[in-house]
Amino acid sequence: MTQGLRYTGPIYRPPSEAHSLLVQATIGCPWNKCTFCMIYKKGPPFRIRPVKDIKEDLLWAYNHYGPDIQTIFFPSGNTIIMKTQDFVDILHYTKHLFPHLQRITIYGSAQYIAQKTVDDLKKLADAGLSRIHVGLESGSDTILAHVKKGSTAALQTTAGCHIKQAGIELSEYILLGLGGKQYSTKHIKETTKVLNNINPDFIRIRTLLPKINTPFLEEIQKGTFTLLSPHEILQETYTLIKELQVTSYIISDHYTNYIQVQGTLPQDRETMLSTMRTALKNDETSFRKPYIGTE
Ligand code: SF4
Repeated sequence: MTQGLRYTGPIYRPPSEAHSLLVQATIGCPWNKCTFCMIYKKGPPFRIRPVKDIKEDLLWAYNHYGPDIQTIFFPSGNTIIMKTQDFVDILHYTKHLFPHLQRITIYGSAQYIAQKTVDDLKKLADAGLSRIHVGLESGSDTILAHVKKGSTAALQTTAGCHIKQAGIELSEYILLGLGGKQYSTKHIKETTKVLNNINPDFIRIRTLLPKINTPFLEEIQKGTFTLLSPHEILQETYTLIKELQVTSYIISDHYTNYIQVQGTLPQDRETMLSTMRTALKNDETSFRKPYIGTE
């Protein structure tokens, strides 16, 4: 019997998994190059935990919390990179221990999802994987290359479509302001195009906030990148919601955003746009100041 659930390095999970059991399947991020991301910049180096260790933690959770766990999230960044058969094994064991599970979710980047076939993803779906959270960030190749995302619009589209084809729910994250003033229009236009092509189940809106220990912050400090103002960010949100041709649920469930909007497209479009128009009438000084994140 292990001594509690074992965690190594930073543990992040989507806000929607706040009440989920967190069992670490991987440590760190195998990519770790995105210039706006500080999570694993100080380590630990990426590694996949042995299946045996993950199962021990699941068993510990079963012995301490009982069989009625409803949702499980397997951190850290990019658990999708695990060998398909190993993760299928873990998913079967998880469902065996917790028969009332309603959702099992992970993070996955497009470049690692693309290493799986649709058949691989279907095996994961059949074994119980219900949702993958993917950082699209932008649909512009120019911006994706600039922030060293390691993917392109085409790769993001393929990865997203494969997830949906496999019958797994897809949550795509976008980062407002990522193109700065120079590429704001391009950012929204091309992000909208990728999202329209994928039609994910969820679109989660985040706003660029410079974090410590990131190359992005250095660009801002050197003056080679200019952050958008609150009104410019709200305008990006407005255009995105106006132009999206999807049936996704949109949610801005994050502290980085200037205002919260949520609803399902297309039926809630006008309500969300109206919220944005009202917010745009507020003086810029009424919104939070741009600040440097500390975590
Ligand atoms: S893939 Fe995700 S966790 Fe890894 S560096 Fe990029 S944003 Fe950070």
